Amino acid sequence: MYICKSEKKQQEGKSKRRKEKPHKCEICSKTFPTPGDLKSHGYVHSGTWPFRCPVCKRGFSKHTNLKNHLFLHTGNKPHACHICPKRFALACNLRAHLKTHQEDDGMDHLDQMDSTSSPIDNEENPEFTEEESSMIDADP
Ligand SMILES: [Zn+2]
Ligand SMILES: [Zn+2]
Ligand SMILES: [Zn+2]
Repeated sequence: MYICKSEKKQQEGKSKRRKEKPHKCEICSKTFPTPGDLKSHGYVHSGTWPFRCPVCKRGFSKHTNLKNHLFLHTGNKPHACHICPKRFALACNLRAHLKTHQEDDGMDHLDQMDSTSSPIDNEENPEFTEEESSMIDADP
């Protein structure tokens, strides 16, 4: 029986090379599979992020990451009142809120956005959350 040994060796070498991460960070010795990964990692050390959150000054390497992060500050409430700065997760909540503007001449129009609230460190979860109970939106 004849087995070609050299062929077997070549295959092993191939699969090994695929797991290699040749791009190494010179500062923290982390390794990355592509030059792009290494480059975006470099922002961690240099602090020169191409995108920066205007609210909490956190840096991001990609625009989509920043966009997802901004949901944290808006509270994931896409329905904004056009009279005051309040925002609502559900359209029916906004409609109910708009009635308060009609009934009395905007007692709460001086309410500030929650720009002083601290950012939540959970950018991985930008999913829409329903707030059934909050007919009146109570931002801290
Ligand atoms: Zn590094
Ligand atoms: Zn932010
Ligand atoms: Zn309003």
